[in-house]
Amino acid sequence: MPPIKPRNGILNITPYKAGDAKIEGFERVIKLASNESPMGPSPKAVEAAQKAVAAGMQLYPDPSCGALRQAIGEVHDIDPEQIICSSGSEELLHLVAKAYATDGDEVIFCQYGFIAYPITIHAVGATPVMVNEDNYTANVDTIIAAVTSKTRIINLANPNNPTGTYLVKSEVQRLRDGLRDDIILVLDAAYTEYVDRQDYDAGFDLVNNGLENTIVTRTFSKIYGLAGARVGWAYGPAGILDILNRIRGTFNVTALSQAAATAAVLDQDHVAMAKAHNLKWLPRLTQALEELGMTITPSQGNFILAHFAGGPEQSVAMDKFLRSKGIIVRPVGNYDLAGALRITIGTDSENEALLTAMSAFFA
Ligand SMILES: *Cc1c(COP(=O)(O)O)cnc(C)c1O
Repeated sequence: MPPIKPRNGILNITPYKAGDAKIEGFERVIKLASNESPMGPSPKAVEAAQKAVAAGMQLYPDPSCGALRQAIGEVHDIDPEQIICSSGSEELLHLVAKAYATDGDEVIFCQYGFIAYPITIHAVGATPVMVNEDNYTANVDTIIAAVTSKTRIINLANPNNPTGTYLVKSEVQRLRDGLRDDIILVLDAAYTEYVDRQDYDAGFDLVNNGLENTIVTRTFSKIYGLAGARVGWAYGPAGILDILNRIRGTFNVTALSQAAATAAVLDQDHVAMAKAHNLKWLPRLTQALEELGMTITPSQGNFILAHFAGGPEQSVAMDKFLRSKGIIVRPVGNYDLAGALRITIGTDSENEALLTAMSAFFA
């Protein structure tokens, strides 16, 4: 029998490799590999999820995520009708690609852009077009120069993972202004809650200004500490949302997850606490690692990209050494950054343990 062929593009996908969560021989590890929140979710979110379980799991969830969209709308002062919820924001990236790109179309993403983008592009048979960055930062002119008549979508993470770099609001506006109206700009704002810059904006203003072609994706996986619940959402124009709602899974967010996320978004004190913790440690870790000889890309996320003077050999040795101490960070060779490691900011004691281990490596 001849092999059964999948649609074009799928065999071009390099499967996503999640950060390791275990090390053989260790009962507990310090996991600084997946940008999860060291503060965990709001206790109110946990309580809400427990109540949802008690209420009976035989019932289908609300397919429209009504209460969750209402709560998000309240907190962000945006229209719930212009919000769509999803099973993690990754689902939204797939939905946009599926709805708006196909064989022969091009989708642009940046050199060190989130590795999920090429997967969503290949999955629909479209052609991923990777554009160079400057100093680990997206370059608006380079993106605009890469546009052809076949371009349908631009994926931009702002701030980006794994670099932590961001584009200022005026640059995002300049990007939008430089694109044809029939090109969708997806602004992936997974780390937006961590950003501490006046010149930054997640992109809501573009949607508020009535643009029909710009959508902002958000997630409960990062600062909200709910990565395991798989909840994402997007704010966008009614036209795009109508299309995405037609093709998403009807019950794409579980009842448990809707309950947890609704309580989580209403607990902005918890978010503020997690942000303050991050702002305390970002400069500290940056400075400490620089003193140990690494070069740190300035980050606005809950992680830092540490480049080793000794290149890939040294980063691999460091990764191995950290694992021997029960610490897992993220190698980023799949981003063509083999000489670097991405390190998520952990709890106080986890960060101290990381610094102790890294110092020991160089001693
Ligand atoms: C973590 C991350 C996401 C979030 O993915 P979820 O599917 O919501 O868990 C999206 N974009 C980027 C750039 C990320 O790093």
